Amino acid sequence: MYRGYYSPAEWKKIIEFSAIKETPFLVILLDRVQQKFQEFRRDFPSAKIYYAVKASPGEEILSLLRDLGSCFDIASIYELDRVLNLGVSPDRVSFGNTIKKAQHIRDAYEKGVRLFASDCEADIRNLANEAPGSKVFFRLLMDAVTSDSDWPLSRKFGCQPRMLTDLVLLAADLGLDPYGISFHVGSQQREIPAWDTAIAQVCNLFEWLEREQIHLKAINMGGGFPANYLVKSNPLSVYGEEISRYISLYFGDSIPEIYLEPGRGLTGEAGILASEVVLISKKSRTDLKRWVYTDVGIFNGLMETIDESIKYPIYTEKDGETGDVILAGPTCDSLDIIYEHFKYQLPLSLEIGDRIYWLSTGAYTASYSSVEFNGFPPLKTYYL
Ligand SMILES: *Cc1c(COP(=O)(O)O)cnc(C)c1O
Repeated sequence: MYRGYYSPAEWKKIIEFSAIKETPFLVILLDRVQQKFQEFRRDFPSAKIYYAVKASPGEEILSLLRDLGSCFDIASIYELDRVLNLGVSPDRVSFGNTIKKAQHIRDAYEKGVRLFASDCEADIRNLANEAPGSKVFFRLLMDAVTSDSDWPLSRKFGCQPRMLTDLVLLAADLGLDPYGISFHVGSQQREIPAWDTAIAQVCNLFEWLEREQIHLKAINMGGGFPANYLVKSNPLSVYGEEISRYISLYFGDSIPEIYLEPGRGLTGEAGILASEVVLISKKSRTDLKRWVYTDVGIFNGLMETIDESIKYPIYTEKDGETGDVILAGPTCDSLDIIYEHFKYQLPLSLEIGDRIYWLSTGAYTASYSSVEFNGFPPLKTYYL
């Protein structure tokens, strides 16, 4: 089942490595991260790539991307320290989280960061005070399209267009450098026209601001690029072609700089989570479904299966006839049910102690793992 997500050589590496280790743990194939980075470069040739560190913040990934020439989008000053400690210069860092303390803006500024994203007046005033003269991306609310994505970022971020133009004018008055407009169409966005809707709005705002003598230079298209899960998505090259078509349609000859902040799209497919079946049970003698409890669950790596949002492909070495299962994690918490409504099929021959591999788990797994819920340690990560 789903073996085809990785090559035979990759499987050999994963299984040989995993055989001698106690589960659960995450394995990251660094070659895959490198390949994806090169795909982004190829499919978006004119874009600047800022890796969204929060997706998978391991130093091995960050150093690899540093050496490949990537820039970094950070969510906090703690992520900032991590990239700076690896020798990344602060002019390759963008502070993309709109929610930040004044003190943290100052820290970032003192360490050399000059690029920030913002979506409200109080934050613009903090930026003007604590990070004077910095470049600012103004984040546009994307409520209408994020609902099509598998992990929407919803109404929490961005502001309405009229508020955005007010903020740009305010920022200019306060001596900041209004640099561009950012948006995020929702993570794991399988509907490519979501970018069409967003870019059309951005174009209108550029034109409106031009009339106010403000010339914005860049569009920051955030993340949203997919990893291959159970439900397939278009290849990245199709995203590249379509998005570049939208940009030319709206902007013609005066194409702005393009910034991308992929997280999931860069690292998702690089990870394989190895787990073990702890128990298999039925709720009555006549129950047709098996409950399969694994040593990984919502609290130690599979947070994005909440509401069954992200459906990871699963691989076991057992094969033969399959049947319905409910998959659940190891903790004493009833929230810790991974898939119940979506009917995963696993071999009837599956036994306690068998390995279950969760594929495409390189993003938003280890970093989302709790530190000691029920006493279980955080998910370990190994880099191959
Ligand atoms: C989380 C985040 C990203 C990464 O999103 P993906 O969908 O994982 O690619 C990019 N930009 C910002 C501002 C984010 O908060």
